[in-house]
Amino acid sequence: MESALTARDRVGVQDFVLLENYTSEAAFIENLRKRFKENLIYTYIGSVLVSVNPYKDLEIYTKNHMERYRGVNFYEVSPHIYAVADNSYRSMRTEGKDQCILISGESGAGKTEASKKILQYYAVTCPASEQVQTVKDRLLQSNPVLEAFGNAKTLRNDNSSRFGKYMDIQFDFKGAPVGGHIINYLLEKSRVVHQNHGERNFHIFYQLIEGGEEDLLRHLGLERNPQQYQYLIKGNCPKVSSINDRSDWKVVKKALTVIGFSENEVEELLNIIASVLHLGNVQYGGEDSNACITSDIQIKYLPRVTLVLSVFACLHLSLTFLSLCVFHHQLMSPLNLEQASSARDALAKAVYGRTFTWLVNKINTSLTYTGDSSKNYSVIGLLDIYGFEVFQHNSFEQFCINYCNEKLQQLFIELTLKSEQDEYEAEGITWEPVQYFNNKIICDLVEEKFKGIISILDEECLRPGDASDLTFLEKLEDTVGGHAHFVTHKLADAKTRKVMGRDEFRLLHYAGEVNYNVNGFLDKNNDLLFRNLKEVMCMSENKILTQCFNREELSDKKRPDTAATQFKASLAKLMEILMSKEPSYVRCIKPNDSKQSGRFDEVLIRHQVKYLGLMENLRVRRAGFAYRRRYEVFLQRYKSLCPGTWPNWDGKLSDGVSTLVKHLGYKPEEYKMGRSKIFIRFPKTLFATEDALETR
Ligand code: ADP
Ligand code: MG
Repeated sequence: MESALTARDRVGVQDFVLLENYTSEAAFIENLRKRFKENLIYTYIGSVLVSVNPYKDLEIYTKNHMERYRGVNFYEVSPHIYAVADNSYRSMRTEGKDQCILISGESGAGKTEASKKILQYYAVTCPASEQVQTVKDRLLQSNPVLEAFGNAKTLRNDNSSRFGKYMDIQFDFKGAPVGGHIINYLLEKSRVVHQNHGERNFHIFYQLIEGGEEDLLRHLGLERNPQQYQYLIKGNCPKVSSINDRSDWKVVKKALTVIGFSENEVEELLNIIASVLHLGNVQYGGEDSNACITSDIQIKYLPRVTLVLSVFACLHLSLTFLSLCVFHHQLMSPLNLEQASSARDALAKAVYGRTFTWLVNKINTSLTYTGDSSKNYSVIGLLDIYGFEVFQHNSFEQFCINYCNEKLQQLFIELTLKSEQDEYEAEGITWEPVQYFNNKIICDLVEEKFKGIISILDEECLRPGDASDLTFLEKLEDTVGGHAHFVTHKLADAKTRKVMGRDEFRLLHYAGEVNYNVNGFLDKNNDLLFRNLKEVMCMSENKILTQCFNREELSDKKRPDTAATQFKASLAKLMEILMSKEPSYVRCIKPNDSKQSGRFDEVLIRHQVKYLGLMENLRVRRAGFAYRRRYEVFLQRYKSLCPGTWPNWDGKLSDGVSTLVKHLGYKPEEYKMGRSKIFIRFPKTLFATEDALETR
């Protein structure tokens, strides 16, 4: 039999805290590599699970595996996403405390797959009655629907989630899932009208065109050819080998039924999807100064938009004219070509974006707990949200996403350090302070009232006159120019200046520096839709649309909040939700950029280890004690190594453990005895004991 020692050589350690050289990034990555080679994609850092996307189906998600992880201790079985799911479930059941599982990592790292595995684990292992079965089905079926409307093929991931998602699963007092609730964050609406080369629009468009029944397509006026639609051809990539749009269409249609969409609702939903495609084909001609819709298009596509949306013909007018209210007189001002195209695109984005939110609300209604409301339920929340993004060219979207990650890091610091501290306190062990970088200073730089970057951006968005992306940049220099985590071309030293454009600002994030190009910041933050277009949408007979665009919004004199301010508010709410729960973490890593199995790209992985803050994480975890275990667990495992504790120890558990470790020759500086646990400082102490067990 292979000894424990050589096994460790081959497959590495299953918990990074057991690495002898825990401050070495090279050792960290070497451990990941060893395990990845053996198809061991999961490794812990204490209670944090690190996962490397295998890009192939591993036989580790069977019902047998689920059974194996039920009710066992974290350390008795090899690391697994099911162990995290089970651990949260048991903490919720035994301690009555709400839980959350935070999944992070860059696009393609396996976040969404991880969240689906967790959901499946609960669906299979939790108790169920008939009513609960319906809830389970709906929880599971919400995925294909949200993915159809919110996911797309990108260069990084064939099934990339283009929105952030937080999902609560509610459990009753018996531990059965009885309801759920989803919150969505920041859908990438720009994809509706534009896709980069090699990327696609949201899946649903292709599913409908490829899979939709003849009658349906005729009714919607659609042709079975994505190349016909301007909004689908920008990326020049209608087909993806790993995706079967036709069979996905069937899955989505069935899922909509399971979730409880009526036939009517499905029809109205598809009308909207089709109308977005028709709208995209409304092209403008005419003089540059006055846009007009060319007559063949007027005949062909515009009526289709009007028809499927049941909006009045004034859509035509609204797509070419801006109505202005000047001294109580309604004036019509013609749009030029560029303005008209962007009005059309803004309408398409608004219609799609609001429909997506409607869809999430609709799913939530179907997941609403209908049981006895006097009985409280407990909650496990799943957060599947975009990780840190650093591209060649970073814009408003990356700014928001990275701000979100700063907030999550802030939460992580507060909760992990706090829980570490709490545990030491509960066990009566002196706390040894850990040095760490507190990123609150960066969060403040972004979000502080009046002086933060978002406030300054909003101010520029509101300012009439000559406000532009560049005046925004100047304002930033004037107000936060002195901040230690902010740099621009003008403020930079000679070396940094070389790698920065004059239209960029750089933030020194906790995970590294990112340059943001200010181009488009004002427009994206304003996210404006002309009033007359909103009015037209309000007149639609499509019931979904009238819920998405309501008259109250039109009579509201107050300007709607900007995109960044809305996002900031939704993040603040998210932090509140997460703060009230006990967190577990899953950190996902993408092994290579080519979606290949078996390829371990070290440069890419090192980058992610850095941006996920894993070394810092390990350092905090190791600052005190590498290993801690409850007395009864420790005694049970090692009692055979000491005549005094074998075969049974009848006295106090802590005395038994004391007897045992003294017999094993532990030195006083190597361990501490808490109230219910033993804390061991160095991994080698534990390894020696493990080896003794093997060679006994
Ligand atoms: P993310 O949500 O982080 O962008 P996904 O969860 O969509 O990434 O994963 C991208 C792709 O990687 C999936 O479509 C799947 O092919 C593969 N993948 C991810 N996790 C696993 C896993 N645990 N086992 C097998 N394949 C996986
Ligand atoms: Mg995803």
